[in-house]
Amino acid sequence: MLTRDEQGREKCVACEMCSTACPADCIRIVANDSGDAWKDNFENREKHPIVFEIDELRCIFCGMCVEACPEDAIDMTDMHNLADYTRQDFIYDKERLLGVYDEYIKRHPDHAKRRDGEFKAMKNSSYFSVVSVENAKKPGGH
Ligand code: SF4
Ligand code: SF4
Repeated sequence: MLTRDEQGREKCVACEMCSTACPADCIRIVANDSGDAWKDNFENREKHPIVFEIDELRCIFCGMCVEACPEDAIDMTDMHNLADYTRQDFIYDKERLLGVYDEYIKRHPDHAKRRDGEFKAMKNSSYFSVVSVENAKKPGGH
């Protein structure tokens, strides 16, 4: 899914870090100037995506895009649809990916309260750390 900020705007700033990190090369982004849409007291985003597509037939659900995103703008969900009728139906465009977020938040309203700062603090603390990487190198380490 592509996530929204507290004002319902897409969080994505079209930096293309996710598509660069994606090993399956299945994310396509076309950036555009954000204009005044993101200029307020809290944000001043230069760009947003006018096209954001994920080819779900190529996606291997590795989560590298989620790890790479600096904005908490893309995430995995517990909602799956792995059957459809045409290949084109597996090209998830921006509206569809944002729609997944809208549905996800209906199912998990507590997650809508997640704020960017808290998310980044969580991501920095609970994902891979130097210590966990070093431990993994030890015999029998995890
Ligand atoms: S989860 Fe899918 S879209 Fe994201 S980096 Fe992995 S292959 Fe690419
Ligand atoms: S989803 Fe995240 S990493 Fe990908 S372009 Fe948008 S802001 Fe950048």
